[in-house]
Amino acid sequence: MRDAKAAPMGPIHAADDDANPTLRNAEALLAAGLIQPSALAAVAATEARYAVALSAAMRALIRTPDDPIGRQFIPDPTELIVSPHESLDPIGDDALSPVKGVVHRYADRALLKPLLVCPVYCRFCFRREHVGPDGGVLTDAELQAAYAWFADHPEVTEIILTGGDPLMLSPRRLADIIGTLSGMPHVQTIRIHSRVPVADPERLTEALAAAMETDRSMWLVVHANHAREFTRAAGAALRRVRALGIPVLGQSVLLRGVNDSAAALEALFRAMIAHRVKPYYLHQLDAAPGTARFHVPIEEGRALLELLRGRVTGLAWPTYVLDIPGGLGKVPIGPEYLRADGTVRAPGSGDAD
Ligand code: SF4
Repeated sequence: MRDAKAAPMGPIHAADDDANPTLRNAEALLAAGLIQPSALAAVAATEARYAVALSAAMRALIRTPDDPIGRQFIPDPTELIVSPHESLDPIGDDALSPVKGVVHRYADRALLKPLLVCPVYCRFCFRREHVGPDGGVLTDAELQAAYAWFADHPEVTEIILTGGDPLMLSPRRLADIIGTLSGMPHVQTIRIHSRVPVADPERLTEALAAAMETDRSMWLVVHANHAREFTRAAGAALRRVRALGIPVLGQSVLLRGVNDSAAALEALFRAMIAHRVKPYYLHQLDAAPGTARFHVPIEEGRALLELLRGRVTGLAWPTYVLDIPGGLGKVPIGPEYLRADGTVRAPGSGDAD
């Protein structure tokens, strides 16, 4: 259980607008007209289990609570129902953590999670057991231990800053981390995974963007699931990053009721390209507890992507991937066009292999 009302402290960048605060509990959602009075107790019980945050930027996009934006952030009492196949650690991070805040799954790269705070809390999050406003900020001693681990592993040439959301850090704290990692001769690439550019674009100030500067190969990977998330403010935030020569990739999750149609996916990928964001991964939903209402079967996902083949520029094509449960890593699961016998299947032929 967590205190969903706790205010972000210390190294976290406090950018909440007092006149337009992030909604963090059932009462606030009720006052905003996003849940019914009859649902208050059930939503409060859900909020006591999983963190809630709906930023002003995302709230402004919600037309009805069950629309593609509302579904992503408004808690639903079904989240307390855990299906048999769901897991507290669906992608196996915990078993692959050599020191607190580090996950090492692949030979040449590793994750660093400096905090577990996010601008919004997605109801389908695969780290929902861990993320929240009150936790996960690595202490200085823990950060030093993480740095020592990276220094001892020269085979790790790429570091992925994730969390939580690294762009919730203050510019000074982020610059310290990137500066320290950039001082390690074997670190060639640093990637930042973030929801901030779309979920709370005002937070991505020039100062925060400047904190990302390094002489290493820096990439920003933005998590967005619907075309409407690419607002004018999001576009401005992305420009602040691009102005520094940092390329931007997009990652999305295939979600029932959010982007589970060819038209929604096409609009999302086209919105990314229009904002110079290269679609990178489309993730199959991970089996985190209480997320069944978002599940789209893989065969349906493959059929949706087939409908886009030939209709959308190849620039807009992400790789459809599944994180194999148990920490075995990502595998591409997109539609196959080449048969084992060397013949080619026409896209949309319905001739599934
Ligand atoms: S922003 Fe990312 S880490 Fe945070 S709740 Fe959403 S999916 Fe999870």
